[in-house]
Amino acid sequence: MTAQIINGEQVARDLRKQLKEEVAFLKQEKGIVPGLAIIVVRSPFARLQIASLKERTCRQLGIKCQVFYLPETATEEEIIFRLERLNHDKNFHGINIHPLTPHLSHTLISQQVDPIKDVEGLHFFNMGDFLIGRYRIVPFVARGIMKLIESTGMGLTGKRAVVVGRSQLVGKPLAFLLLEKNATVSMCHSATADLASYTKKADLLVVAAGHPQIINGKMVKEGAVVIDVGVNQIGSRLIGDVDYEEVKNIASWITPVPGGVGPVTIAMLLDNLLKAARLI
Ligand code: NAP
Repeated sequence: MTAQIINGEQVARDLRKQLKEEVAFLKQEKGIVPGLAIIVVRSPFARLQIASLKERTCRQLGIKCQVFYLPETATEEEIIFRLERLNHDKNFHGINIHPLTPHLSHTLISQQVDPIKDVEGLHFFNMGDFLIGRYRIVPFVARGIMKLIESTGMGLTGKRAVVVGRSQLVGKPLAFLLLEKNATVSMCHSATADLASYTKKADLLVVAAGHPQIINGKMVKEGAVVIDVGVNQIGSRLIGDVDYEEVKNIASWITPVPGGVGPVTIAMLLDNLLKAARLI
C-alpha cells in the first residue's frame, strides 16, 4: 500500500481564505484589527523561522503582528513583566509564547497571560472549560491535528487511536479531542514499555515526541492514518518523528514533514486569535 499524503499546505490555504474574510468582516463591521503578540526568548528551541512565518502570514491576512525578542538569559520574572505589559496593551488580542528552554516552564508562565488573550489555550481557565467540553479556546496544535484527520474522511467512532507524547500543548488536549469523537485512546510517553505493542494496533497514530524517526515501518498497522507532529532539525533538513519513507508504504494516509501539521497549526493559532478578538 502507498499512503495518500495529507496535504497540510492545502488544508491551511483553505483555512487562511476563511480567516482573511473574517478579518475583513471584523474591520468593516466592528472596527477591530486583530493583533497578535509573539514572545520569543532566543535559544535553540525558539523556532525563529516560525515566528517570521507567523508574521508574514498575519501580514497577508490583515492581522497586526509583533514579535518581542528577549535574550536567552531572560528570567521568568522578565518574561512575566513583558506579559503583563502585553496583557494591558489594547493593540493585541492574543499572546503566543514560542518554545522556551527546558529550565523555564511554558505551562506555568502561560498562567500569567490574561485568559482572554490566551490564544494558545493553556491558561487553566481555558483548559478547565475545555475539559468540561465548553470549547472557547482550544489548544491550537491539537485543533490543527483534528483538522488534518478530518481532511482524510476518517471516522473516529470505535477506532483505536494512539498518541505518542503527553505534552500540555499537543498530546493531552489531542487525546481529549479524540475521546470526544468516540475513539478509544491510548497515550504513550517516554516511560511506556514496549511502545511498538501500542502503535502497531493503532488505526490512528499521532506522534509528537520530538525524537527523529522513533516510529518505523514495523511499528505501524497496515492501513493506519499517521500524523507526524515532530519537527527535528538535522543539519539543514527538517525531519519528523516518523520514518516517512518506510511508513508511507504501510499507512493509508500520512503527513509529510515539513508541509503537514505545521502550516495548519499556524492557521489554527490565528483562528483562536480571531475568536479572542471577537470576544472583546
Ligand atoms: P514535549 O513537550 O517535549 O513532549 C514530548 C513528549 O514526547 C513527552 O510527553 C515525552 O514523554 C514523549 N516522549 C519523548 N521521547 C519519547 C519516546 N522515546 N517514546 C515515547 N514518548 C516519548 O514536546 P511537544 O511540545 O509536545 O512537541 C513534540 C514535537 O512536536 C516536537 O518535535 C515539536 O517540535 C513538535 N511540534 C510541532 C508543532 C507543529 O506545528 N508542527 C507544534 C508543536 C510541537 P514524557 O512526558 O515521559 O517526557
